[in-house]
Amino acid sequence: MSDVKIPYKIYLEENEIPKQWYNVRADMKNKPAPLLNPATLKPMTAEELGVVFCDELVAQELDETNAYIDIPQEIQDFYKMYRPAPLVRAYCLEKKLGTPAKIYYKFEGNNTSGSHKLNSAIAQAYYAKKQGLKGVTTETGAGQWGTALSMACSYFDLDCKVYMVKVSYEQKPFRREVMRTYGASVTPSPSNTTNVGRKILAEHPGTTGSLGCAISEAVEVATSNEGYRYVLGSVLNQVLLHQSVIGLETKAALDKYGIKPDIIIGCAGGGSNLGGLVSPFVGEMLRGENNYRIIAVEPASCPSFTRGKYAYDFCDTGNICPLAKMYTLGSNFIPSANHAGGLRFHGMSSTLSQLYHDGYMEAVSVEQTEVFKAATEFARVEGILPAPESSHAIRVAIDEALKCKETGEEKTIVFGLTGTGYFDMVAYEKFNNGEMTDYIPTDAEIQAGLDKLPKVE
Ligand SMILES: *Cc1c(COP(=O)(O)O)cnc(C)c1O
Repeated sequence: MSDVKIPYKIYLEENEIPKQWYNVRADMKNKPAPLLNPATLKPMTAEELGVVFCDELVAQELDETNAYIDIPQEIQDFYKMYRPAPLVRAYCLEKKLGTPAKIYYKFEGNNTSGSHKLNSAIAQAYYAKKQGLKGVTTETGAGQWGTALSMACSYFDLDCKVYMVKVSYEQKPFRREVMRTYGASVTPSPSNTTNVGRKILAEHPGTTGSLGCAISEAVEVATSNEGYRYVLGSVLNQVLLHQSVIGLETKAALDKYGIKPDIIIGCAGGGSNLGGLVSPFVGEMLRGENNYRIIAVEPASCPSFTRGKYAYDFCDTGNICPLAKMYTLGSNFIPSANHAGGLRFHGMSSTLSQLYHDGYMEAVSVEQTEVFKAATEFARVEGILPAPESSHAIRVAIDEALKCKETGEEKTIVFGLTGTGYFDMVAYEKFNNGEMTDYIPTDAEIQAGLDKLPKVE
């Protein structure tokens, strides 16, 4: 097919959009380890999970046998508002770099929330509505997840209570107002609306909050109010499942032109976009049909894959959520202030952790000034202003393309462009003023986090 000119954007026809999600765990020989009850250290049962999460989502969380799960028609209809997402051939970037590599990116920022998170938010809101719930609660750090969930809840007329880390609530007023415009209530965390919030405020007056604390408040509100459940925007198996729509569309678009990628790259916070992007490709690897190089990119300030340990750990700082076996820096590890808020989680999806452990993926960490250099270079030639999180993937895609320039290899590189950066202009301002710094934790700091891992056999 070498004489076929690849279009600037490959779109799928409406009838080519996936009607099922792909559950990569079904094809894994070594299944990810189960979530454990923090009190008993026994695997969480569906009944126990059902206190916190919606029933259908619990079923998806525990499903490791069905490879394909139907996307309900209502969710397919919502997807049509902003999907299929384009797969863009980065002709301008290739030219600028002078590389023989062929670069493609899957752009997930074409919706008001500005990221891929809407793919799972709409699914989680749908199942909550179907269960007859009144509403859902969640936490948000940088605000992308809260925004996506607000949009999804307003579509299904569900109440949405967002606990937003206080420092972001104050520093990101525009994200907060987008959520309120979509009808969500947004509470700065810690707050005096919960027991755990009041306790934290009494112990640490003047604290600006943390993600772990906001999770604890959101879970308390969900479990103490009739008709509410808690929802989470990353890390969980169910979220990776919903995000598989990214990879399925990418694969369908590439297949249409007979393109086989050599390298697939994504940024990794909790692992949902990367897991979604690579799932169908990893599925082929697991079944022995094909081979790809898959690269997870994380910030040097929060290097769970590259410097963490594969062990059971708490998912939240409050230690009330189930334990997951994952690459982790320890739930007490507080990453230094980094502008990619969506990548500041101490752990990683248990599915991706198992795949990484079994050698199906590589991981690299990058420093934020290098990330913003790549973001700026990309914005200037490709037009899109990328989110700081997404720019981690851009950095490594550019690095790989430059290696091809040296060797003359015409590799095909695909990366996930998870979102836009319009709400991150304070970070861009720092970069433009030359005030951005890089922080790499010392070995002693990493060890201090790992020393506090719970002892689980
Ligand atoms: C949340 C977020 C991420 C990281 O989350 P994952 O679950 O690792 O995908 C990456 N990019 C953007 C734009 C985000 O909002």
